[in-house]
Amino acid sequence: MSTVVTAPIDYRQYLRLDMMPHILCPGCGHGIVLKAILRAIHRLGLRREEVVFVSGIGCSSRIVGYVDFCTLHTTHGRPLTFATGLKLARPELTVIVITGDGDGLAIGGNHLIHAARRNVDLTCLLLNNAVYGMTGGQGAPTTPEGMRTSITPGGAIEPAFDACRLALGAGASFVARGLTAQPLQLDDLIVQAMQHRGFSFLEVLSDCPEFFGRYNDLGRGPEMLQAQRSHVEWLGARLTDKSFVPGLGLEAPHGGAAPAFTAGVLHREDRPDLGALLAERAAASAPRRSRPEPAPAAGETPSLSPGDGAPPTGPMRIRLAGAGGQGIVMAGLLLAEAAVAAGRNATHAQAYGPESRGGASKAEVIISDGEIEFPCADRVDALVVLTQEGYDRYVSLLEPGGTLVVDRDQVPLEEGVGFACHALPITATAQRVLGTAMGANLVALGAIVGLSGAVPVEAAERAVTARRPGGSVERALRAFRAGLALVP
Ligand code: SF4
Repeated sequence: MSTVVTAPIDYRQYLRLDMMPHILCPGCGHGIVLKAILRAIHRLGLRREEVVFVSGIGCSSRIVGYVDFCTLHTTHGRPLTFATGLKLARPELTVIVITGDGDGLAIGGNHLIHAARRNVDLTCLLLNNAVYGMTGGQGAPTTPEGMRTSITPGGAIEPAFDACRLALGAGASFVARGLTAQPLQLDDLIVQAMQHRGFSFLEVLSDCPEFFGRYNDLGRGPEMLQAQRSHVEWLGARLTDKSFVPGLGLEAPHGGAAPAFTAGVLHREDRPDLGALLAERAAASAPRRSRPEPAPAAGETPSLSPGDGAPPTGPMRIRLAGAGGQGIVMAGLLLAEAAVAAGRNATHAQAYGPESRGGASKAEVIISDGEIEFPCADRVDALVVLTQEGYDRYVSLLEPGGTLVVDRDQVPLEEGVGFACHALPITATAQRVLGTAMGANLVALGAIVGLSGAVPVEAAERAVTARRPGGSVERALRAFRAGLALVP
């Protein structure tokens, strides 16, 4: 972590000024948290390109829209999953997750416990205002019993749960609680959380005057901040020597009544984070070569190189579409695995309807000798369709001059559609060589491998052999090769 900077902060250097004015309500505690985060980053002297913010959905998650760093505003409850992937791929980055009590504890609760369990090296700030603010003040998992929300006008009857206890129980190696009413202490906690190696969980008690305050007659921002102060006991220096706090400090500190909340660092331990464990495992299993690899002996399968099959270099985008149960996703997966086995980069994305049989299904594969920046494509270079629905949906995405492969018995093509068209008897071929339509996906795979040159034939056959789709290598290869043979 970088050295501490004491120079005065000009917040504007860290903000996307073109996004101002922000949308937070007057008096919202989240603005206080935003400034505390920026002060912590400033103190640590981190550069803009070293920090990534990841958020989910909700008022708190809107913070990432205003900070001029690399940011990911992701789907509801999922910021920790995106952040985990990012941190494992780019361990040198400081990754800060901003989530709310609804985002991080309700829909995203599962991801929170597993990020903590894995001890992913992330700093997770969970802004807890005890309510869903963005959607109109509904009760959240942290709404205290008896408090009114838009869905509990008579007062919540469910017990709230304690986010810090949850994080500790799940295995977080740093657990702390701060509050917007004490912003300077909050700065310190954020700094400590960012300096900790492992999963740092910091719950920040924030306020939503617009809904929680209004529904419960708690006043506006200033009154709610005052209330926070009167309900919190700071652990402060009392705990500096402890690595574990029984009950997270909720015991009465001086023999009197326990406060509603305790704040400060509640738990800290050193244990290897997930990235370190993976790096260790990778180092242990990496092949050690003291001599150049010998040439393959006669009869041995030679290793593959990307150029063996011809094309890529730049990204080649291939979409396969059909019906659920046809094995479209499997065909895409085999194509991507063959590309990777041949030394190329590849991504595979899939989608299908809720039906396990009969609904629409698609797979998208991008293959390149260079980097692939995004796993989905608006346009495709090759389209393989086994159903009329797939054709109708996706033919407009095909680039002019792209390759179109259709099952000719399912998709009657008109003349002059403007693509390199290949109407092939895909299902009929599967029926002919296997005695069943199951296997049309492998016939289609063979056809697109032969037509596109996206992967070497040998790599595709190895992928098929490794996965044994349908349970029989021999039958799977027979279908794949029959598809290859359809290509002139
Ligand atoms: S609704 Fe509540 S949480 Fe959302 S911006 Fe307004 S005060 Fe803040």
